[in-house]
Amino acid sequence: MGRLFCVIPCYNEQEVLSETSSRIRAKLNELISKGKIDPDSRVVFVNDGSKDRTWEIITQLHRQDPIFQGINLSKNMGHQNALLAGLMTVKETCDVSISMDADLQDDINAIEEMIDKYNDGCDVVYGVRSRRTTDTFFKRATAEGFYKLMNSLGANTVYNHADYRLMSRRALLGLAEFGEVNLFLRGIVPMVGFKSDVVYYERAERFAGESKYPLKKMLSFAIEGITSLSTKPIKMITGLGIIMFFISIAVLVYSLVRYFTGNTVSGWTTTVISVWFIGGVIMVSLGVIGEYIGKIYLETKNRPRFIIESYLDDDH
Ligand code: UDP
Ligand code: MG
Repeated sequence: MGRLFCVIPCYNEQEVLSETSSRIRAKLNELISKGKIDPDSRVVFVNDGSKDRTWEIITQLHRQDPIFQGINLSKNMGHQNALLAGLMTVKETCDVSISMDADLQDDINAIEEMIDKYNDGCDVVYGVRSRRTTDTFFKRATAEGFYKLMNSLGANTVYNHADYRLMSRRALLGLAEFGEVNLFLRGIVPMVGFKSDVVYYERAERFAGESKYPLKKMLSFAIEGITSLSTKPIKMITGLGIIMFFISIAVLVYSLVRYFTGNTVSGWTTTVISVWFIGGVIMVSLGVIGEYIGKIYLETKNRPRFIIESYLDDDH
């Protein structure tokens, strides 16, 4: 029977927090009375620099019921960093953690099954969406395409798993060893290892408020995921370079033949086309390589991944 800490990043979530907290409270009570988790379990809300009343609500929840704790980040650091801040804060005190979204899209009834698998000896349990019928067609198509692309590029992620996940203390301590600034948690956790399993759940609709992941953020999240987990795009450029080399030999032979047969002027079209084509390929290639150099640049700076302004808990 372990001490469970639920970690919930919150960015402008004032509309959902009271509902989320009472539902989780009820769930934890149930699990405590069934003897599946320690009565000293906690729910940790990480306020990711919200501009609304999120932190006030968290403070209020903490005052009413010490099961709720809070971590206030000094500014908006993004979902992944907020989640990491929470997990790294609880890693010493908890026996097991579960990370989930604040908007109740992750079905909290799956917590029990996750805990059962943990009690059976799993260190990592991935929450996997069985159906995505509540997401819009567009979101579903882009998200599923993204998982497929990721895997085909060699980044090992669990299909249709976001960040709803159970991790034991030793899995968290393992995660803490990964010092990367370009953080893509769902790609790193499988690298931590340990016995893992999945739990299926139905993805619900956001309870209230709006998605904090507009298309632009989703795209940059996808590029982040691919470039921080896989070097295949660079290898593809090398392949492209080799193909271009053979094409250029063919063009060379072709133009020599044209030269000796006395038809040089008519080659203008091919010249122009190849100049633009090669120029385009080079620019795209530079862009991809630049993406990686940018990553190296950020990693060498070794900047903090999150900065905590204040805590609402028993230890600080
Ligand atoms: N989130 C965060 N910081 C951000 C953006 C989002 O902490 O900069 C949190 C947000 O409060 C929510 C979770 O990350 O708990 C997932 O965000 P959201 O539900 O908006 O994404 P979606 O489900 O639409 O992909
Ligand atoms: Mg959501």
